[in-house]
Amino acid sequence: MRALFDLPFPELMFRAQSVHRANFDPCEVQISTLLSIKTGGCPEDCAYCPQSARYDTGLRAEKLMALETVLAEARAAKAAGASRFCMGAAWRSPKDRDLDQVCAMVEGVSALGLETCATLGMLTAPQAQRLKRSGLDYYNHNLDTSPEFYGEIISTRTYQDRLETLDHVRDAGIHVCCGGIVGMGESRADRVGMIATLASLPEHPESVPINMLVRVAGTPLAGEDAFDPIEFVRTIAAARVTMPRSVVRLSAGREDMNEETQALCFLAGANSIFYGPKLLTTPNPGRDRDRELMERLGLSPLEP
Ligand code: SF4
Repeated sequence: MRALFDLPFPELMFRAQSVHRANFDPCEVQISTLLSIKTGGCPEDCAYCPQSARYDTGLRAEKLMALETVLAEARAAKAAGASRFCMGAAWRSPKDRDLDQVCAMVEGVSALGLETCATLGMLTAPQAQRLKRSGLDYYNHNLDTSPEFYGEIISTRTYQDRLETLDHVRDAGIHVCCGGIVGMGESRADRVGMIATLASLPEHPESVPINMLVRVAGTPLAGEDAFDPIEFVRTIAAARVTMPRSVVRLSAGREDMNEETQALCFLAGANSIFYGPKLLTTPNPGRDRDRELMERLGLSPLEP
């Protein structure tokens, strides 16, 4: 894996493109929309996250959104071309009564003809099964970084906790969405370790979001240096080569990325983006800018 990451850039890109074309139409991009259904006030201490109650980022904590509000957002996302609707809640893990409300949202969003995804923190096996019964298609739970670097980023739960939630999700028959973040001060060895861990899960995640750190003022990582875009593209390419059939999502951080870098990410095998002006709480390129970029690159949205 390290050897792959260290390849000269043209070699790595060639490999990534070869794998990509053997498994996907390189001109199709899957589009997801992400809505924060419960914002802020999270007890966890993830060093990159403005939603942690431990950091003063000026974010106002909100209660769980009403069902009707969520469904109105989902209808708008569908009208804008999204095929999947992801609902994120800033919890360590959901309480069972909260889960009942989320299940009602999943049922409602499914009924609109959208794929559903949720990210709610750690799940027990029965909670994962409950979500599956409500029709949940995907569950997002990221590994964030390598096992070695993880302790620098989060202290309130372990890597093993994360792997267990992923097992519960997989065992319940829900598709797994699992990736990580780069630009948090980790080394290339850590990026290699993260991709290697993802690629050695019992099954490859169906969806692999690769995020570039958004340096939010007030979080411990606010002062990190800007991350090298070429190294970001390498990370995408390594994910593509090692998880050939997974959909690799160019996720957070696009707002700070120029169009050339985004284009390189698509060439490196990224084939999914989040669409919409916000990613949970941080800005994302507006829909018009995305549509324009996709048109210029000749990319088209994948139908659900
Ligand atoms: S990443 Fe999730 S678990 Fe961590 S602080 Fe943010 S909302 Fe909480």
